[in-house]
Amino acid sequence: MKWLIYFSAAIYILWPLSAMSSVWMSDSATSGAFLFTTLIFVWFIAVARWDVTSRYLPFVFSAAYVALTFYKFGWIPAALTLLAIIVVYWFPRRAPRGEQFVALRSPFESGSFFVAQGGNSKLLNHHRRSRSQRYALDISKLNFLGVRARGIYPKDLRSYCIFSCPVVAPCDGTITAVVDGHPDLPLGEMDRANPAGNHVVIRCADSPGVYVGLAHLMQGSIVVQSGQTMKTGERIACVGNSGNTTEPHLHIHAKRGGNAESMLDGEGVPMRIDGRWFTRGSTL
Ligand SMILES: [Zn+2]
Repeated sequence: MKWLIYFSAAIYILWPLSAMSSVWMSDSATSGAFLFTTLIFVWFIAVARWDVTSRYLPFVFSAAYVALTFYKFGWIPAALTLLAIIVVYWFPRRAPRGEQFVALRSPFESGSFFVAQGGNSKLLNHHRRSRSQRYALDISKLNFLGVRARGIYPKDLRSYCIFSCPVVAPCDGTITAVVDGHPDLPLGEMDRANPAGNHVVIRCADSPGVYVGLAHLMQGSIVVQSGQTMKTGERIACVGNSGNTTEPHLHIHAKRGGNAESMLDGEGVPMRIDGRWFTRGSTL
């Protein structure tokens, strides 16, 4: 995992730079090399996890790429490149149709947060394989540089901006499950037997039959009890690194039906948080 993240981070920087140098050396905007390079560049901008290197980089790279295309080939290829970036970014991020959304509020009090996994496409959301979690979000927190941690994959859990960040109730409701006691694991260790780690499940008061689960919480940080009623914004716990997790983050998903005490059954329900649909790369 560690090497995969280092490798990805290197590619996130090196690929756009090499794409730019290859545009620089292209002789025409219709050459196979230019079109191929542009296609992979655009795809990369759309799907990479930019909180690892900086959420601002895709904007910088896109602007530089379009500017370079304009300088080399004129405004039509530059405008088409910009259009391609927008379309390829937008297309897999469309909200699902024909589904009933649950309306939630942000599970955080303050700060700038980044959706690392989320959306209606396997390309952007690794939870899509699971029925109950298919609209789940994995959320990291960003520092002022738009990066989620001090370093690419630092060992110290406290180097991740989101570690120990307070989590609040995203809706009014009743707590139906509280699991605590799982340790915050060192980086790279995953508890596959307890995938959610320390977690809380809330039955939403305004959406009958819908439950929201919050997972990978910090050991000993949960301040609510099963059966307790909650108001939106009330403190629940802090973000940790318990369960089946590669690094500190908050996992949140909504489900309909299934066991009130479980996060892992039922049918996944798409969420709107503060009125918005979230996918990888969204900030909140
Ligand atoms: Zn998750």
